[in-house]
Amino acid sequence: MSVYKEGSYGGERRFACDAMLGRLARWLRLLGYYTFYSPKIRDDELLEVCIREDLNLLTRDVDFFKRATSCGLKVKLIQKNSFEEQFFEVVGFFGLNLSISPENSRCPECNGLIQSVDREEIKNKVSANTLDSYDAFWICTNCGQVYWRGRMWLSMTRIVERTKEKLKRGV
Ligand SMILES: [Zn+2]
Repeated sequence: MSVYKEGSYGGERRFACDAMLGRLARWLRLLGYYTFYSPKIRDDELLEVCIREDLNLLTRDVDFFKRATSCGLKVKLIQKNSFEEQFFEVVGFFGLNLSISPENSRCPECNGLIQSVDREEIKNKVSANTLDSYDAFWICTNCGQVYWRGRMWLSMTRIVERTKEKLKRGV
């Protein structure tokens, strides 16, 4: 099923989030979408990055939304307050792919690419308990952060499933 409507928001869907949308940025990365997020960047710098890298800008700020729009940017004003509603808003608007697998994810911390890694290679980077509890591990090729299907993964799966349901019902 696709709720994506043809228009000016096409392309490979790369994003930038403003400083107020850090959680959304992390989730877009987990879904595998390139997402620029740098909370300390100045507004005009962020606009430059979006223009240079052809990014879809997501912002909570009405004035910034207007400014970005007048610069010719592809920009979406995020109006909902709760994270889950924001996530639903963005997924529906851009028709994002909700199949999640670590192989396709980007690092939520740094936007780097993630790849599968042998237990041997990361055994000194995680606790013995974690090493014993999980079979599969992934590592960010940029910052070295190690990932596994832990609690965060489970809570993400639940929110993704709820979002899929809502999209199906067209709420
Ligand atoms: Zn990283």
